[in-house]
Amino acid sequence: MKQVCFIFFIIIMASCKSKDGDYTFFSESDDAKMGAAMHQQILNDSKFNILDTAKYKTAYQKLYSMRDAILNSGKILHKDEFEWNLYIVKDDSVNNAFCTPGGYIYVYTGLIKFLQTEEELAGVIGHEMAHADMRHSTDQMTKAYGLKVLIALIAGEDYSQYLEAGESLLQLSFSRSDEKEADLKSVSYLCETDYNASAFAQFFKRIQETEQDSRMLQF
Ligand SMILES: [Zn+2]
Repeated sequence: MKQVCFIFFIIIMASCKSKDGDYTFFSESDDAKMGAAMHQQILNDSKFNILDTAKYKTAYQKLYSMRDAILNSGKILHKDEFEWNLYIVKDDSVNNAFCTPGGYIYVYTGLIKFLQTEEELAGVIGHEMAHADMRHSTDQMTKAYGLKVLIALIAGEDYSQYLEAGESLLQLSFSRSDEKEADLKSVSYLCETDYNASAFAQFFKRIQETEQDSRMLQF
């Protein structure tokens, strides 16, 4: 037991406390690098049919204005460090949105069609931005690879291979508490904008109360 505690202590010491208050092995620039690599993978993957920004300019402008309102809420910790770019993925059968570390956000057309108001969409974008801003992916990676990264550090090895684990990162799911934090953060961002945050809070309540919806909506 003592040994386990000691190892855990070293992990904490070797990782550093980030702006959002969590301990992580990865720096903010690691998040940005990982996000850029994952975005490239997504662009190269025919599974993701991303709508052209020039052709669907009006739709993108709408999403950008929601993102900008949230970025200007004064509550985004990594406003200048991260990319904060949005993409619409054409697939009406998917009611979902997701983000990479470093602020690349993807919203499926199925979700846009499912949502009922602009507030709801702004809320979902805020939720995804919160995951990136609170660095939930690299928190998960610290938990998943913590000991391996530590061993690599002790051996003087490069740990960058774990940064390239983009694909496995997409499979790491956020914890319940991460999801809750993203919801609460999103509401707090919207409170600082012209959007009606209480409408969005009601929406999340509705989703949480309906088990079927929460399974369907995976963001
Ligand atoms: Zn989420």
